[in-house]
Amino acid sequence: MSETCIIIGASHAAAQLAPSLRQEGWEGPIIVIGDEPYVPYHRPPLSKAFLSGEKDIKGLLIRSAAIYEKNNIEFKLAVRVETINRSHKTLTLDNGEVLNYGKLALCTGSRVRTVSLPGTDLNGIHYLRNVSDVERIKSDTSAGKKAVIVGGGYIGLETASVLKKLGMDVTVLEMAPRILARVTAPELSDFYTRVHKEEGVNIKTGIAVAGFEGVDNSVERVVCADGTHFDADLVVIGVGIVPNVELAQAAGLEVDNGIVVDEYARTNDPDIVASGDCSNHPNALYNIRLRLESVPNATEQSKTAAASICGKKKPYRTLPWFWSDQYDLKLQIAGLSQGYDQVVIRGDKDSGRSFAAFYLKGGKLISADCVNRPQEFMVSKRIISEDIDINPDQLADESVPPKELMTP
Ligand code: FAD
Repeated sequence: MSETCIIIGASHAAAQLAPSLRQEGWEGPIIVIGDEPYVPYHRPPLSKAFLSGEKDIKGLLIRSAAIYEKNNIEFKLAVRVETINRSHKTLTLDNGEVLNYGKLALCTGSRVRTVSLPGTDLNGIHYLRNVSDVERIKSDTSAGKKAVIVGGGYIGLETASVLKKLGMDVTVLEMAPRILARVTAPELSDFYTRVHKEEGVNIKTGIAVAGFEGVDNSVERVVCADGTHFDADLVVIGVGIVPNVELAQAAGLEVDNGIVVDEYARTNDPDIVASGDCSNHPNALYNIRLRLESVPNATEQSKTAAASICGKKKPYRTLPWFWSDQYDLKLQIAGLSQGYDQVVIRGDKDSGRSFAAFYLKGGKLISADCVNRPQEFMVSKRIISEDIDINPDQLADESVPPKELMTP
């Protein structure tokens, strides 16, 4: 009898890992266990086309049921894995069921960071991570009413842009001195601040939320530490995420800002891999360990994890990349900008809606933020992944076509 491979978590990482296992030659049963009631669905549209109503749940599914059926992949949904017993190679589910595994993949992802402030349990206050969160937000969305977004990161800003389009009066409250401070340079923060203001969103920075007040158990206002307050019929809190590592930790696996894995997605147990948002992995291009919160990471690392389960070695060496959609703006980010010593802007970021910000370190391109600039994005990915030398003086020169930026 062939061994069973169990995947915990049914989202982006699992949707890639399970079919990749078959491609790599895994012949035994594959079981995916997820605590949400759906087969894997695209999470990014939750703050975009699903919130705006342009897509429904069917339009979000990553793969059709037929693909899972064809690959003989079984799902156990709306059920949680409570414990892993590594010496007996068993899992216990919250419905009491005990399952044996031969190999195990941890794709447990992450969850929202919650705030503990007075009034967070009032109706009308939401977080945004899964389909049911967005369904609740939608039921509190109403044109002409007031929405307050707590947190000026990508998810908060995407939510602001959709709620504005739906006719709400939107305010974003950010504690840091600028929006997107954790993830990007001041140039990008200035750009998005301008765009949101032009669209009619009220952005307040350097302001700490102290609590929420309401009547009849429903939120009415957000109160800030400096005494100011903002009326609100709907509040969405987007202040980051934390990786789901507790299951791994309780099972004695190494955890350090994510489940620690090597370049083959292997944990310190030879029968257990981890991939996606929950993993802390090495990145050879930047020579650091990191935890990424992105779909391309979940997908690519899961191909590596599937190969490792099947006894093959396919190192994970992909350049990190990300995207964000707000209004008519498609931001594509190639690489990681941490540690840059120079920013070069190509295009008009002060009054236009299309430009690229190139981040350099010692004259080398390490990252690029490209707003409505798909060519610059593709070229930047190549330059960084293949370590191609560039001439920094050409980056800002729009008379040099993007492709030619690869020629020093
Ligand atoms: P997750 O998607 O977090 O899935 C993990 C799953 O495992 C969850 O369903 C969880 O409930 C389940 N689980 C955890 N523990 C257990 C257990 N013990 N038993 C059973 N099930 C369990 N990324 C981008 O690249 N671009 C974007 O534009 C973008 N936009 C986003 C917008 C929103 C609103 C959100 C929430 C995320 C966005 N992301 C975006 C991030 C992206 O969705 C994540 O990086 C991706 O979902 C990670 O996939 P994953 O499979 O690793 O984990």
